[in-house]
Amino acid sequence: MSNDNDHVALQHHQKMEHLRAQFRQLRHRYLQQLPETMESIGLLWALISEQQWSRETVQTLIYKLHSLSGTGATFGLTTLSQSARAFEVYLQAMLERYITLTDQHFQEMEGLYANLHHAYVVEVDIPSLSLPADPSESVELDTDEQPEIPAITSQHRLIFLLVQNQTTVRDLIAQIGYFGYTVQVFSDTTSFNYALSQVTPTAIIRDTALLTDELPMLETHVAPFSHIPTIFLAQQGDFQSRLKAVRAGGHAYFIFPFDVSAVIDKLDELTIRREMEPHRILIVEDEKTLAEYYLEVLRRAGMKVVAITDPFSVMRPLFEFNPDLILMDVFMPGCTGLEVATIIRQQEAFVGVPIVFLSAETRREKQLIAMHYGGDDFLTKPITQEHLISAITSRVQRSRAMRASMVRDGLTGLLNHTTIKEHLDREVKLSRRRLAQVTLALIDLDHFKRVNDTYGHYTGDRVLKSLSRLLQQRLRRTDIIGRYGGEEFAVIMPDTSTDYAVRVLNQIREGFANIRQYADGNEFAVTFSCGIAGYPGYESAPQLVRAADRALYLAKHQGRNRIVVAPSVDRPLGLQVNQSRV
Ligand code: GH3
Ligand code: MG
Ligand code: MG
Ligand code: MG
Repeated sequence: MSNDNDHVALQHHQKMEHLRAQFRQLRHRYLQQLPETMESIGLLWALISEQQWSRETVQTLIYKLHSLSGTGATFGLTTLSQSARAFEVYLQAMLERYITLTDQHFQEMEGLYANLHHAYVVEVDIPSLSLPADPSESVELDTDEQPEIPAITSQHRLIFLLVQNQTTVRDLIAQIGYFGYTVQVFSDTTSFNYALSQVTPTAIIRDTALLTDELPMLETHVAPFSHIPTIFLAQQGDFQSRLKAVRAGGHAYFIFPFDVSAVIDKLDELTIRREMEPHRILIVEDEKTLAEYYLEVLRRAGMKVVAITDPFSVMRPLFEFNPDLILMDVFMPGCTGLEVATIIRQQEAFVGVPIVFLSAETRREKQLIAMHYGGDDFLTKPITQEHLISAITSRVQRSRAMRASMVRDGLTGLLNHTTIKEHLDREVKLSRRRLAQVTLALIDLDHFKRVNDTYGHYTGDRVLKSLSRLLQQRLRRTDIIGRYGGEEFAVIMPDTSTDYAVRVLNQIREGFANIRQYADGNEFAVTFSCGIAGYPGYESAPQLVRAADRALYLAKHQGRNRIVVAPSVDRPLGLQVNQSRV
């Protein structure tokens, strides 16, 4: 037996060694051709900075920077990769905005180029001078800091657009930008294919006109890059054309002139993976070693776990950690798990949290009594790792599914009114404890009734969805977004000052106003107004809501499409009520 294990271990070791050696080789080769890459970037930049700003040249430079950033990161050249990325993003933004470039712009770009060059000198050039002659040794030196296997370079929200005639998609390119995608445009298949071999974009949009006529028809035929979401744009919608697109790996098909927002909808649908949040488990177990053991097992299964050994301190993690499930020991000093469960259940906010008891108690009637105290399940000690993980996973999934339908709004998928209010309450209390800031923004669409009256309710719904999507894309993962009412949204921004919130929301406001909404051939734009209030200043959730609502009202009266911040107050609002402001 142990021989077998040794053998397996040895094989594994050899495999890893082999991978590592391969990686070293790849890295070495990459480092060797890097001076050339840097030189061509330098030349391109020289060309551009001599004021020869041509779309073509800039795009080539962007492309070079892009792959430098991706591959550089893979081979552990972090600073180089980051500065390449920064430069790339800047250039891309310049391309997309169609603005006139000023000296200021060129200075900024010069700075970005200087950073890049500096990063190269420090991270690659200087170390390589001091490397020993033998190449295999030279890369061995720093392998400890390198990832063992090259990561797949996948750029966040990068779209490859392959079209013959750019003017037909000008609108699409402009609009996609507002939704946080970066577009790289190609006009011939050669450069497109080459780019694909270097970088993996988030999605591909391409013209059927650039498909070769002969496409293999094999039952087992798998289109190259079929793992990348691909949208086809076509002149006709006949069966033959559609079939061609499907065979070329198309996931969606639009006919010119297409509805830009429908394409973006599709893009979102194909690319936004709703990342599953890890399950959050709270363990209450008085025996330290056991608690640690469960914690380890569940953590290794990918869950987020907090364990406490003192049942008397259960309230705080319950409140702050907001567990999906509580794993509760029954016999503990001072009070029993059953009592703790009862206390938890008596609080409205935690009525729905599953509680699973863990006990050495095997008698069924005793277990039933425990369930009566509010437990959902009873696991008997000792329990195997597999059983523990699967029992907990299925419980959490079930309760999450049930809660999702209760907390999410059907149209937009955002948190509903009740839930966002609960979140606000919690965030304010948390911020008070942590001496942190939290900002609330209430958003209301301008003249939305007109949209409905003019274009119909269905179009109105689409507009609501487009704002919801924009908010989800532009805000941080830690921000909490809800549909507060019909055409009203609420955003809670933890650890955020009102000043910063204004900056972020102003960008979103401008972005939203720039989105062209479509309804049977008509184009229109919609704006929103926003009221903002922050803690500290306003001291409770209801006060924040009232203040933000008043600010929103002001924003409407001052002409809409704007943000108004509730005046910050140093003392609790109650003291201010009689002053002239109200
Ligand atoms: P204001 O700029 O003052 O906010 O004007 P408004 O027209 O947006 O405000 P009002 O409160 O008069 O109208 C809100 C409209 O929002 C009324 C209703 O038709 C529309 N609405 C509310 N919920 C929904 C929804 O779920 N779908 C659609 N399509 N429309 C909705
Ligand atoms: Mg115990
Ligand atoms: Mg309203
Ligand atoms: Mg409104």
